[in-house]
Amino acid sequence: MNVHEFQAKGILESHGVNVPRGGVAETPEEAELIAQELGSDLFVIKAQIHAGGRGKGGGVKLAKNPKEVRTQAGSILGMQLVTPQTGTGGKLVRKVLVAEASEIENELYLGMVIDRESSCVTIMASEEGGVDIETVASETPEKIIKESVDPAVGLQAFQARKIIFGLNVPIDLVGAATRLIMGLYDAFVKSDCSLAEINPLAIVKNGDEHDIVALDAKMNFDDNALPRHKDIEAMRDQHEEDSRELEAKQHGLSYISLDGTIGCMVNGAGLAMSTMDMIKLYGAEPANFLDVGGSATTEAVANAFRLILSDEKVEAVLVNIFGGIMQCDVIANGIIEAVNQVDLHVPLVVRLEGTNVELGRKLLSDSGLDLITANGLAEAAEKVVSATENN
Ligand code: ADP
Ligand code: MG
Repeated sequence: MNVHEFQAKGILESHGVNVPRGGVAETPEEAELIAQELGSDLFVIKAQIHAGGRGKGGGVKLAKNPKEVRTQAGSILGMQLVTPQTGTGGKLVRKVLVAEASEIENELYLGMVIDRESSCVTIMASEEGGVDIETVASETPEKIIKESVDPAVGLQAFQARKIIFGLNVPIDLVGAATRLIMGLYDAFVKSDCSLAEINPLAIVKNGDEHDIVALDAKMNFDDNALPRHKDIEAMRDQHEEDSRELEAKQHGLSYISLDGTIGCMVNGAGLAMSTMDMIKLYGAEPANFLDVGGSATTEAVANAFRLILSDEKVEAVLVNIFGGIMQCDVIANGIIEAVNQVDLHVPLVVRLEGTNVELGRKLLSDSGLDLITANGLAEAAEKVVSATENN
């Protein structure tokens, strides 16, 4: 699960990470009020959407006084913000963060992820922070410092210092930077994050001195751990989540929405992935990943089918089921039930294999449904792709 920047900053702050003072607003008037209460020479107004690259897309603006904050908030709120991470449609901005703006001396990058290979939390940091960390990672990977933290021991001060010296943090900020990295690690572990990222982590002017502060924050949480974090679960923003993914979750289906045209209904994550590969091999793109699970009921299959057909991008559907625990007649009944409930307006290719396959195939052929059957995964992929081409 993702949260907004202001929510991530709230969590980080409770773990001792230094963040700029600010508040979140849903109207220009609220934004102005927050600015008045903050009382600063310069403010920043930031669109709150679940996507990065907001600066590039015009979702981060500066203002000199509360009146200007109100005007800028008015122009950002309600906009369909397009960033390199939103897709061409953009995302509707419903909230803005109003914060005091800092005078930036240097923008660094600090991130943490779970590295499954080493079973450790990997810390990544770079002097080349700011907006283009992806380019740094692909073109000059040597500029990214990595440090692995053994979860049984936790982050050690010497590791934090290693990162800090690698980042060339000014000597008088080493103590503050150590507290910040320790705070981020603490937040990461205690809230069961899968990713936490501060970009930019900024060295800022503070009168005659300077300071180190998290100007942006991104946190992803492990969905499987959410039952023990009710406070984080409560931060869920339904508007930001794919409505089909939400519905799938309610039906206990593993569904991920993608950009292609072939709807896929498969059992087992491995088979689902190889089905997607085969579709690509035959020149098309999958519209979704969908694993109905090993022991789905007729109802689950019907729900999955409805979900796929509700996606207007879908030009054809491929059902690829290997009936091991799952029986082919159950799948067949699910398909028949679903097609009777919804209007099947696209070609349907079905490949069934495994337990009760003869019964499953018979049910389908007796049903009188207009479907294309296939033997083998390659044939199924080829047939579904050519069905979209002939359409
Ligand atoms: P995104 O990553 O979505 O583009 P950021 O929060 O990183 O959004 O903001 C983009 C840029 O805006 C930052 O790299 C920084 O230069 C500037 N910025 C963000 N917050 C502040 C702030 N509080 N004070 C000054 N500049 C800021
Ligand atoms: Mg950023």
